[in-house]
Amino acid sequence: MNTGEPRPDNRSAGTCSDVVGRREAAWLAPYAFFSSGSGGRRHPEPCHPYRGPFQRDRDRIVHSAAFRRLSGKMQVFTGDMGDYHRTRLTHTMEVASIARTMGRYFRLNEDLIEALALLHDLGHPPFGHAGEAALDAGLRDEGGFSHNQFALTLVEELEQRYQPWPGLNLSHEVLSGQLARTRKAAGDVPLLEVQVVDLADSATYNAHDVDDALQLELVTLDDLAQLPLVQRALDRDNTRSLPLTSQRPAVVHALIDLQVTSVLERCGPALLEAGWTSHEQPAAAGFRLELAEDLQREKGELEAFLYRRVYRHDKLLRVREKAQEQIRTMLDWYGASASRLPEPFRARAERVGARRSAADYLACMTDRSCRQAFAARQSAVAPRTTPERR
Ligand code: MG
Repeated sequence: MNTGEPRPDNRSAGTCSDVVGRREAAWLAPYAFFSSGSGGRRHPEPCHPYRGPFQRDRDRIVHSAAFRRLSGKMQVFTGDMGDYHRTRLTHTMEVASIARTMGRYFRLNEDLIEALALLHDLGHPPFGHAGEAALDAGLRDEGGFSHNQFALTLVEELEQRYQPWPGLNLSHEVLSGQLARTRKAAGDVPLLEVQVVDLADSATYNAHDVDDALQLELVTLDDLAQLPLVQRALDRDNTRSLPLTSQRPAVVHALIDLQVTSVLERCGPALLEAGWTSHEQPAAAGFRLELAEDLQREKGELEAFLYRRVYRHDKLLRVREKAQEQIRTMLDWYGASASRLPEPFRARAERVGARRSAADYLACMTDRSCRQAFAARQSAVAPRTTPERR
């Protein structure tokens, strides 16, 4: 496991070519994270002639099996509820896009931002937070399960490339940025690049969950219009005068734009005025990228509404119960004996225990493969019916 501690000894292996260094010197703000300052990789590798270290990290994540599996993992709504709504993959792409918009405005390191954004939900098990809660409860006596932590397990241990070491051998800053997601309560102030991804994540899911819930008719625009943040969105660009079919995308667009613009307007001047000359200074000063206070409050009200009316909607609760029962059953069965696990999880069980390795195996599954594995398990244990004698 990566500890998050710097590994300056790896710098000798070279982290950044001259061409990347010149590009970043010409564009990045002085408070951005420069690739030349990277703590390097656990296993030293020579620098690439034209790709920076975080660009390589981004590419490694995109080419990983875990990233491809995100297309089969639900965000909030399962695949059998329709074809319109977000998957974990499309959510991730939206987060990366919005985070890069903010990062470019602040002249931060976009490659680092993109790598962090594409990694941030890589560790989600099947069935979103329902699956995570079932695994966490099932591993209560063994340290629990967190999708943020599991993303690190994937990229440090389970993914296998052509090199002799396990994992993707990502840069220190990408790993420690993901690690910061697991330690939010600790009060550490992460790099601005990490903060941008965090803000983009919540701006994105607020907006797209509104969109998906409206499209699935779990809520109406009239319901949402009671919320001050949605009222603001409706008041922009004559949205109320648009045909009803155009109001929904206009509101979703405005929700994202309001949140992003608020962060840029609140924090852009502060970053300029501070005159910081290194990435350490904003962190040392406790500087946080934030929305304006009134918008933050209104965003909280929208999130409470979504929790009450969407995430706890009867349709989703039924999906949640079914998914959790499937995961509980399979965790108990696979966790009872490592011999039931496929490789490499059988061998992994010798190091981490059968139950943890079973949870890792299940967490790698897509929603569909989890359902199929459960159905296969059920048919294996179902009592054989005796054919009727004629
Ligand atoms: Mg996310």
